[in-house]
Amino acid sequence: EQLGGHLSTRLKGLDAALCGGIPFGVLTEVVGPAGIGKTQFCLKLSLLASLPAHYGGLDGRVIYIDVESKFSSRRMIEIGARSFPEIFHLKGMAQEMAGRILVLRPTSLSEFTESLQQIKVSLLQDQVKLLVIDSMVALVSGEHEQGAHRQHPLGWHISFIKSLAEFSRIPVVVTNQVRSQNRDESCPYSFQVQDKGKTIEDSTRYDSHLVAALGIHWAHAVTIRLVLEAKSGQRFIKVAKSPISPPLAFPFNITSSGISL
Ligand code: ATP
Ligand code: MG
Repeated sequence: EQLGGHLSTRLKGLDAALCGGIPFGVLTEVVGPAGIGKTQFCLKLSLLASLPAHYGGLDGRVIYIDVESKFSSRRMIEIGARSFPEIFHLKGMAQEMAGRILVLRPTSLSEFTESLQQIKVSLLQDQVKLLVIDSMVALVSGEHEQGAHRQHPLGWHISFIKSLAEFSRIPVVVTNQVRSQNRDESCPYSFQVQDKGKTIEDSTRYDSHLVAALGIHWAHAVTIRLVLEAKSGQRFIKVAKSPISPPLAFPFNITSSGISL
């Protein structure tokens, strides 16, 4: 595609598999159980997007939709100070970097809907180089009671977010929690996405409760899906859906300097 450009994750194997990192202009979904590191991953990406170009960053602003109040600028600065001490020891730099992240905390789906219009304006004006939604499923977890919206609760939002990615040509990263992977290893991602009786993602298995909450449209809308999981005490990041990569998995750790391979 002509969209071009990637946000490097600094995780070498992952960047190589994705031909440079998180692609611009499309949706990347990061899924995994509670506590696996989805938010830590997004904090690292936010840091990298706001970092000066001289250090390999995108030298931009970030819009971070923090649905569950899990964003921590303190933690982001810790990751920055440990990963790029030469920048962060400069006076005022930590504050400057933190100031580049606009954190929005919508308390309802309708507030989120309103903020999307503002975001569209910001994307046109403000040198935004990354949009994070952490998490999408949390936006609807309290909202899907019954009735007409049940089938495609977020259809409009999904199309809108996808179009934001396309027209602004920035990476859009969305997290989603899936149920924790206890007992049976075949269980958590064994749901195959079915559309009109056809399996649309054989190799990419997708959690049934995400399909129930976000609708089938969501699974289609995502270009890259990264699955974070733990096996025998080791965390892995897996490229579960990609137009350019086979389903590779890379072990990672979370330390004071953030996510690392
Ligand atoms: P949820 O679905 O609940 O939002 P998550 O996938 O976003 O979960 P994170 O909050 O990204 O999970 O990861 C939490 C984990 O990150 C903690 O369990 C801890 O192991 C690790 N972690 C957080 N801060 C540090 C730190 N300073 N040093 C080392 N590890 C840390
Ligand atoms: Mg989180």
